[in-house]
Amino acid sequence: ERRARAAASSGPGRTADGWSVELLANVGSAADPVAGAEGVGLFRTELLYLDRAQAPSHDEQVEAYAAVFDALGGRKVVVRTLDAGADKPLPFLEQSGEPNPALGVRGVRLARRDPGLLDGQLAAIAAAAARTGATAWVMAPMIATPAEARDFVARARAAGLASAGVMVEIPAAALRVRALLREVEFLSIGTNDLSQYTFAADRMAGDLAELLDPWQPALLDLVAMCARAGRAAGKPVGICGEAAADPGLAPVFAGLGISSLSMPAHAIPAVRDALAAHTREACERLATAVLSAEDPTAARAAAG
Ligand code: PEP
Ligand code: MG
Repeated sequence: ERRARAAASSGPGRTADGWSVELLANVGSAADPVAGAEGVGLFRTELLYLDRAQAPSHDEQVEAYAAVFDALGGRKVVVRTLDAGADKPLPFLEQSGEPNPALGVRGVRLARRDPGLLDGQLAAIAAAAARTGATAWVMAPMIATPAEARDFVARARAAGLASAGVMVEIPAAALRVRALLREVEFLSIGTNDLSQYTFAADRMAGDLAELLDPWQPALLDLVAMCARAGRAAGKPVGICGEAAADPGLAPVFAGLGISSLSMPAHAIPAVRDALAAHTREACERLATAVLSAEDPTAARAAAG
């Protein structure tokens, strides 16, 4: 029995009957662990830009991206372009005058002011991918409209990056997910920000933790909408917010048709085991039961 448990705690994400849900790691640099992951589903690139007076040079960026690509040895890496602003302020961007930074010029919106910053980053990602032979996917944070996604994908293609997607972190993006999917190769749901903007509850506000609970039916409805639309379009829809690390939600997400879960690497074994404990049909039944619950407590009870 011990051997069986050990076997379930390595290898790719699968339901008991072999349905695949990719298990990916969230990293901020090549120093973060990736053991046990099938790839990287969220490479947060902000670290590279922190604590400096100017954007990092092209060469510095290429080194940092290539280090992560090398660490993954050919496995997929999803690089998220700079997500500065709000909870991730950057000194050189001078955003200090904003009364509501979470609703301000953050994430991909920075490209309105400074498209060179985004194009420079995409060029460095493409150069690092070419140098290492990596499979690089890129995605933009804080996309609100299909037009923003189209602009991002065009910039990525101009840089020579074919696999371009966007994050779903704003309810407007989830509500128009079918149109969004027409513009991109894939979607990744950022449940941290999607909760914040759906519930109008600051993600840093401990007092509002109950609104930010990933088992909230309104959040799960948005995830379900995106997953269903992704399946219909034949394009992958993953989750890379903290909800992806919840072993109780993993079979629910699998049942909804989510194609990948990206989390800190240490969380992967428990999520892998939770998936392996259910058939795909059981996951679908769980998802239906959880979606019909009225609140997080009932949702957890419905899951079992
Ligand atoms: C998210 O918002 O869920 C997400 C994954 O991005 P970050 O936490 O970096 O904002
Ligand atoms: Mg986010």
